[in-house]
Amino acid sequence: MRWINKFNLPDPVVKAVQRDNYNPGKSDVTVTRLVLPPRVAVLQEIHREHIVEDISDGFFRMLGKCVHKLLEENDADTDAIVERRLYSAERLQGLIVSGQLDRYELKTHTIQDYKFTTCYSAQNGAKSEWVGQLNLLALLARENGFPVENLELILLLRDYSKTQGERTPNYPPSPVLRVPVELFSEEKAEWYLNSRLQAYISAKSNLPVCSPEDQWRRPAVFAVLKPGGKRAVRLFDSEEEACAYAEAAGSNLSVQKRCGTSIRCESYCSVAPWCDQYQREKASAVEE
Ligand code: SF4
Repeated sequence: MRWINKFNLPDPVVKAVQRDNYNPGKSDVTVTRLVLPPRVAVLQEIHREHIVEDISDGFFRMLGKCVHKLLEENDADTDAIVERRLYSAERLQGLIVSGQLDRYELKTHTIQDYKFTTCYSAQNGAKSEWVGQLNLLALLARENGFPVENLELILLLRDYSKTQGERTPNYPPSPVLRVPVELFSEEKAEWYLNSRLQAYISAKSNLPVCSPEDQWRRPAVFAVLKPGGKRAVRLFDSEEEACAYAEAAGSNLSVQKRCGTSIRCESYCSVAPWCDQYQREKASAVEE
């Protein structure tokens, strides 16, 4: 990966962001990689050398690492295992799988995983990739002699605002949240691991497409607007419903289509420049 510094940020910030102590150990694939959409995982491997990232985009990742480190240091005397990499006992479909435990509570047999994320993500509950990652970690933990009874996400909300919390319904009640995660049965977890391994391996020879869920697709909506207004009075999934509402309400309300977006492709996928699926979809959205 190559770094650029679009905003001419000072050296200490650049160095801190570039510092990378990530080490997947002696494994062929990590659980974090396995839960990615296979297309993303494989394109990242192919274009590893060409991926360009701006220092500003790596900033929150760096903050996340700092928080991890601080929490780890303050966990030394507790009844927990922290930051331990675990490996599969044998090759699975030809690959050694590893995963890093953020924290394992010895008394309660709970795996906790810290996620540095946004309030929007927290409001939408645990992402399926997070649930998958924790359950794969549970599988590795059991294999390494640690029983698992509970899974938990500790969400650290980087954009939390107390004042917004007072005004917004369903806003997270605190900047740090404990979110319990469904623990799969061993059979389901084994099945899940095998299907992710299969999808990852077959993507190397036959690149699959990303699903709307993989792309974090938000469908088009129809906004009802006051004359001259930009903020929607109401949003509807269908144009018919929006028009009927505007007509019934009178007051010269108008209806505006807001195009759907693929949030991951547009803002969070490092391989978007090399992804023909996304480039095609973007071109056809412009033509619409
Ligand atoms: S750009 Fe979008 S479609 Fe392409 S790999 Fe990334 S998430 Fe998938």
